[in-house]
Amino acid sequence: MAEIQRRKSVTAMIGGVKVGSSAPVMVQSMTNTDTADILGTIQQVADLARAGSEVVRVTVNNDEAAKAIPNIVNGLEKLGVHVPIVGDFHYNGHLLLTKYPGCAEGLAKYRINPGNVSVGRKNDDNFRIMIEVAVKYQRPVRIGVNWGSLDSALLTRMMDENSLLPEPKDAREVTMEAMVVSALNSAKLAEQYGLRPDQIILSAKVSGVQDLIDVYRSLAARCSYPLHLGLTEAGMGAKGIVASSAALGVLLQQGIGDTIRVSLTPAPGGDRTEEVRVAQQILQSLGIRSFTPQVTACPGCGRTTSTFFQEMAQQIQSYLRDQMPVWKGHYTGVEEMKVAVMGCVVNGPGESKHASLGISLPGTAEEPKAPVYVDGRLFTTLKGNKIVAEFIKILDDYVESHYAAREKEEVAIRG
Ligand code: SF4
Repeated sequence: MAEIQRRKSVTAMIGGVKVGSSAPVMVQSMTNTDTADILGTIQQVADLARAGSEVVRVTVNNDEAAKAIPNIVNGLEKLGVHVPIVGDFHYNGHLLLTKYPGCAEGLAKYRINPGNVSVGRKNDDNFRIMIEVAVKYQRPVRIGVNWGSLDSALLTRMMDENSLLPEPKDAREVTMEAMVVSALNSAKLAEQYGLRPDQIILSAKVSGVQDLIDVYRSLAARCSYPLHLGLTEAGMGAKGIVASSAALGVLLQQGIGDTIRVSLTPAPGGDRTEEVRVAQQILQSLGIRSFTPQVTACPGCGRTTSTFFQEMAQQIQSYLRDQMPVWKGHYTGVEEMKVAVMGCVVNGPGESKHASLGISLPGTAEEPKAPVYVDGRLFTTLKGNKIVAEFIKILDDYVESHYAAREKEEVAIRG
């Protein structure tokens, strides 16, 4: 597979985890619990971390939330979940971070939205105080611009300047430029207030795919800070997943992006960890990182009129997902395994030979037998009604014999 050349950036540290340049592209997520609900937040952070989130952000919007942070961090430590917690601040972050030192110290990083903290105003105390807290506790800061809360004074000024040009740019172009300028100016100011360049991560999120690509290309070309990618307000279900994948896929392919988040809106009562799995899948599909064995399954067609083939593909996928937490602790490299579950003889044997192991099920009019391929060679042929169980046994043996046992089980949930 062709290697993606990552954009060079400085390397930052978030809670002992490297971000930027040659460090693996990090997967992040954010809770949607009330942070003051300590047990609920601990539970959701733990779920997100176990799903693979390497950093989890929580909102810190009031006194109760700020007071809860040390308890949340300690509670997670007691559970053995060592994931860096990031505080998301708006408007009153300067008050909360100074009033609650336990919050400032417990958090591994602060996210500051320059549109909401007086950057660029005559009196920019809010921003300065937050940066000074970061300097005091030696924490990195993500300067996170969002077009929903873009610095209105900056945008108005840039629009006015644009209108005086002989050939004014369109409003969209000026807005995208204002996003970039807001991020870069805020970073410069943060450095003036004492933050080191390797304590700064930038993001500039918009909700349109083409807009996001334009903004990040521009940002990437104009600074060397690590960049956090995410399509803001991506939406629900397939729309959110596809839009995020399209936007992040283009940027990651160009080497842009050091951490990512997929901002999916879960269905009511839905599973928050889906955003983590989608982020992982984007990275794995691009060949940037491996998280879990991949199942290649054909879509099925008129040659697969029974549901057996779909059920088997689903059972294998679920089995792999269920086994991964155990396998990951025991076998090095198992996440790179590829399994093919194919519906008929047309592409079945060929695709199965490309996988670590694959099974080609009989199509509707074919002889009821299923050849199994291991590392490109015919291994056996399965028949009868125990095909799934027998294939899983072959799968287990493959893992046992092909992936070296880890020296010791890794307990920490950290990338
Ligand atoms: S491999 Fe066979 S069953 Fe699957 S889509 Fe192709 S022709 Fe149809």
